[in-house]
Amino acid sequence: MKRREFFVGTGMTSALAALGWAVGPVAAEGLVAARRYRVGAATVHVLSDGFIPIGPDMLIGVTPEEFAALLEKAHIAPDVHPSAVNAFLVEVADRRILIDAGTGEIFGPTLGKLPTVMSALGIDPASIDTVVFTHLHGDHIGGTVSPDGNPYVNASLRVASADIDFWTSDEMQAQAPDAFKAAFDLARAALGGFAERVEPFGSGETTIAPGLTTVPLPGHTVGHTGLMLESEGDVLLISADILHVPAVQLAMPAVTIGFDTDQDMARETRMKTMDMVAADRVMMGGSHIALPGLGYLEIEGDGYRWTPARHQYG
Ligand SMILES: [Zn+2]
Repeated sequence: MKRREFFVGTGMTSALAALGWAVGPVAAEGLVAARRYRVGAATVHVLSDGFIPIGPDMLIGVTPEEFAALLEKAHIAPDVHPSAVNAFLVEVADRRILIDAGTGEIFGPTLGKLPTVMSALGIDPASIDTVVFTHLHGDHIGGTVSPDGNPYVNASLRVASADIDFWTSDEMQAQAPDAFKAAFDLARAALGGFAERVEPFGSGETTIAPGLTTVPLPGHTVGHTGLMLESEGDVLLISADILHVPAVQLAMPAVTIGFDTDQDMARETRMKTMDMVAADRVMMGGSHIALPGLGYLEIEGDGYRWTPARHQYG
């Protein structure tokens, strides 16, 4: 029996209620892989889909020995990095915007947890008015492609037109290595799940909701996009796939990943973005940063130091 089921699914519920404990979606937030933060008047839920194991062979610019040493330094078993996969729910001005949708059922048993996490928190997919894809990779869009169809039945989809053009191109698919060809089919399927509700945005800054604006971060994919949330003086940059293996890329930010469409541009965008986050002391979130998934960067030597956001009590 999972711990959450023990707490909410047995007689413990009434026993705890008798003690004055609030048992329900709010209490569940601490028991499932999710964290909730206030950003000014907005609320941001970091929702875990699980983790993806990444080995040194998937990275470019780091030796297996350096990889192992950096993982060890971060108190992680040295062979494979468990990279988080997060989605973000932003609640602002009566809007409910889901940023990325997890992997769905297309990856292994360490992933695909987002629907369980959302249901434990009482978040109905039908209540989401907008889905934003930061880019059209499977770990961000797979959750909209399931045997039962796209669960976000009332949401419009916002995604960079540059990514749509790339991932729906027959020519690009034909040129891609065999291992990447299926990714093009998945992107088409995910876009198809929103049918006429797809609303592409261009390469400038686009307002998605009050205080929530797109930030072009090209390189990882041609249309890779972050989201800036600003409310009542608080600022959060959801940086999407700026980092894939924080334990390595914080210390060695020049290291790229094989999935980067343009390695040089991805590297340059990562460094520029992290320098800006460090200089402005704004909060940053990342799709592949372990829970709480939000925190702060400071420049340290040739790399960066990450300080996870402190828990917000109450
Ligand atoms: Zn990703």
